[in-house]
Amino acid sequence: MTAQIPRIDPDRLLARLDAFAAIGATARGGVNRQALTEGDREARALLASLGQARGFLVEQDACANLFLRRAGTDAALPPLLLGSHLDTQPTGGRFDGALGVLAGFEVLEALEDAGVTSPRAVELAVWTNEEGSRFLPGCMGSQAFSAGEIPAGWTNILGADGARFGDELAATLGALSGVPFRPLGGPIAAYIELHIEQGPVLEREDIAIGTVTGIQGTRWLEAVLTGAAAHAGTTPPAYRRDPMAAAAAALHALAGVMAGDAAARLTVGRIHAEPGSINAVPERVAFTLDLRHPDAGALDAIEREVRAVVEAEAAKARCEAELRIVFDMAPAAFPPEMTALVEAAARDAGHAATRLVSGAFHDALFLARIAPSAMIFVPCRDGISHNEAEFVEPRFCIAGAETLLQATLSAQDVPRASS
Ligand SMILES: [Zn+2]
Repeated sequence: MTAQIPRIDPDRLLARLDAFAAIGATARGGVNRQALTEGDREARALLASLGQARGFLVEQDACANLFLRRAGTDAALPPLLLGSHLDTQPTGGRFDGALGVLAGFEVLEALEDAGVTSPRAVELAVWTNEEGSRFLPGCMGSQAFSAGEIPAGWTNILGADGARFGDELAATLGALSGVPFRPLGGPIAAYIELHIEQGPVLEREDIAIGTVTGIQGTRWLEAVLTGAAAHAGTTPPAYRRDPMAAAAAALHALAGVMAGDAAARLTVGRIHAEPGSINAVPERVAFTLDLRHPDAGALDAIEREVRAVVEAEAAKARCEAELRIVFDMAPAAFPPEMTALVEAAARDAGHAATRLVSGAFHDALFLARIAPSAMIFVPCRDGISHNEAEFVEPRFCIAGAETLLQATLSAQDVPRASS
C-alpha cells in the first residue's frame, strides 16, 4: 500500500473535543474533571478504548501516565512523544489539556489513515495531575516520568478534598485493569506539546500559532500563621493573637511587592482558617502564594520579599509564621532547533506564527529535562483559561492540530541530526 499525505480530519477532532468535554461537564459549559477522580478515570478509559480500536499499543505507568503508541519500522529507535493532560481545574474549560491530547490522537489517526510508515514510533502521552488543583504539586506525571521514579513523599499527600494521593492513584490504575504496565520513564527522541495559550497575545494579533521559546519560572509557597483561638465576643483586640488579622495585613502589603516589576506575578488563590468557627478568633490561617517570573534571580528576590512581609505582619500580631515551598519550577528555554521546527511546521501547514514565552507552566517543562522539547500555542478567546468560559475557535483547534501533524513528520529527522 502506498502512503498518502496525512491530513487532519477537522470534524473528527471537533467531535472528540465535544465527547471529552461531556465527561465532567458543568452546568455553565465548563469541565470539572480533576486529577484521579471518577471523571479523570472515565476520560482515560475512553481514550484507551479509542486507541485500542485503532490498533495502537495502549500502556500505563506507575504514575498513571497513559501512552498510546503507533509503532515505527525500527523498534530500536526511541519514540517521538506528543502529549498533554486530561485533568482540569475544578471550574475548568474544555480545551486546557484536552486539546493537546486529542490533537495528538488525531495526528496518530491521520498517520494511520494515510498508511504513513516512520522509522520511529509516535507516542501520545496523557500526563497525570498537570493542574495541581486537587493534589500538590502540579505536573506530577511528567515530573515522575522525567525523574524515572515517583518521589517517596507523594503517597501520603492529601488532596484539597481530603483524599490520599496513593489511594486515588491505585484506584485510577486499577480502573484500567486491562491496560498493561510499562516502566516509568525511558528514552524518548523528542517531545512536542500543543496547548492553548491561556493568555491574550495571539488572539489580539490574530495569529493562529505561537511557537514557545520558553516557560517562566513558577514557585508555590504555603504560608501558615499560627496565633491563639479565642472567644470572638469576650477577647479585646489587645489580648488577641489573631492570625487572620496578620494574614489580611500581609496580603495587603504584598500587593506593593509586585508594583515595580511588570514581569512579576503574585497570586493568593486559597485561604483557610482553623477551626473555622464564626464566633472564634482562628488559631491558624493558611494561604497559598503563586509566584512567577521569567528570571530565576528575580523569582528568588520576590520570595525573599514575600517572606519578610509575611513574617513582619505575623510578628506585629504576635503570631508565628511558617512559609514553605511546595512547588518550584525554574524558568526554562526550549532548544532553538525545536522552536525552529515548530515555526517551519506552522508555515508548511499554511499558518502564521509568532514566538512567545509561556506564562503558565506545562508538562513540557519537565520533558525538556530529558529530551529536546517544543510547544505549540493556539489562541483562546479573551485569553481566558482556568475558567468555564474558556473557548478556542474551531479554526484554531484545527490549525494547532495541523501544525502538530507537520511537526511530527519533521521531527522524525531532528533527533538524528542533533545526536
Ligand atoms: Zn493545561
